Amino acid sequence: MIKKVLLIVMDGLGDRPVEVLGGKTPLEAANTPNFDALVKKSQCGLMYTLGRGKRPGSDTAHLSILGYPIQEYYNGRGPIEAAGVGIKLKAGDVAFRGNFGTVDSSWNCIDRRAGRITNVAPFAKALDGTIIDGVEFIVKPGSAYRAGVVMRGVGLSANVSDADSHNAGDNIHAVVPKDNTKEAKHTANVLNKFMKYSYEVLDKLPENKKLEEQGKLKANFLLLRGAGKFVTLPKFSQKWGFKNAACIAGGGLYKGIGAFLGMDLINVNGANAQVNTNLEGKFNAAINALNEYDFVFLHIKPTDSLAEDGKPIEKREFIEKIDKYISLLNKVDNETLIVITADHSTACELKAHTADSVPVMFYCNGIRNDNITKFGERDFAKGSLGILEGKDIMPNILNIMGKLPIIGA
Ligand code: ZN
Repeated sequence: MIKKVLLIVMDGLGDRPVEVLGGKTPLEAANTPNFDALVKKSQCGLMYTLGRGKRPGSDTAHLSILGYPIQEYYNGRGPIEAAGVGIKLKAGDVAFRGNFGTVDSSWNCIDRRAGRITNVAPFAKALDGTIIDGVEFIVKPGSAYRAGVVMRGVGLSANVSDADSHNAGDNIHAVVPKDNTKEAKHTANVLNKFMKYSYEVLDKLPENKKLEEQGKLKANFLLLRGAGKFVTLPKFSQKWGFKNAACIAGGGLYKGIGAFLGMDLINVNGANAQVNTNLEGKFNAAINALNEYDFVFLHIKPTDSLAEDGKPIEKREFIEKIDKYISLLNKVDNETLIVITADHSTACELKAHTADSVPVMFYCNGIRNDNITKFGERDFAKGSLGILEGKDIMPNILNIMGKLPIIGA
């Protein structure tokens, strides 16, 4: 009887054949004995996370895989990022992704990341709790130069332009409403007052004086983008009938997805979403978490970042590095279903996400395995799962667990 689930998502794992890898994809070219041993005992297939011909973002792809249709639950990246920095969102909140940046006195953007400043906690603290026209601004620091920002108040709208230049050198314009509603006009008006206030506060901050003295760029502007209105949504564990769920990730967006869906975040030292991330620590944390949680989501980022940088050889090498830790999964008991997949393909050649399908495999005691011998995109085309969509994953998991409701009598 399967009682627990470990879902492993390797970001942007799928790819296209690459010449320097002899016409194989990085996954096909990788030497992966531990993955292959698991594949042989698994049921396999391919998946279009958002459906055919749809090019997924990481946020929308994860929501689909975790069983939250994006038409219903996706309102921009702001609320997910805000959840990821620990803000408890309420219905009606409008949330943004924020960057601390550097501007001159005419608000020409000099650097969108304030010289890649690594700690913005004092800057976020200076703005956190600001109230303008009855609207509260919640500002919490994220990793490096990033922040999560929430506007809380009555009658707000996410249908406003960004408070962001998007390019260094460009001037930051006033925020404008994107529709004629009084909510959008009110929100734009409050945001414009906040931009002015936050620039005045930040520019004079002692921390910025220190940066200036050191010849560094000041963090004197809070750039805001990706506005999204938060709608209450069912907790993942309740929606799918689990006791509790945990998320292990290094990247802010993925922690955000876990927090957004009400999962507990498990922090692992050295899990930084970079190539030198602590993979061993993450796998061990996931395996240990299965003693306490009946759903564990483990996210691994660099497969995507390396492809975005156009590095197929390094992507292959990183897949081989992950493979070393796959043998740790031998410690998982036989009441656990292991699902291994990706959120989307990222083609090294294009340095971009593509709408190509990704491999997906289900391994557990008693699964109807396909006897496929290699972990790879084209090998998985022979799998008995055929071609799935992201929305099929959770029902398939419930089916394996014997928890899927019957249709008819
Ligand atoms: Zn992704």
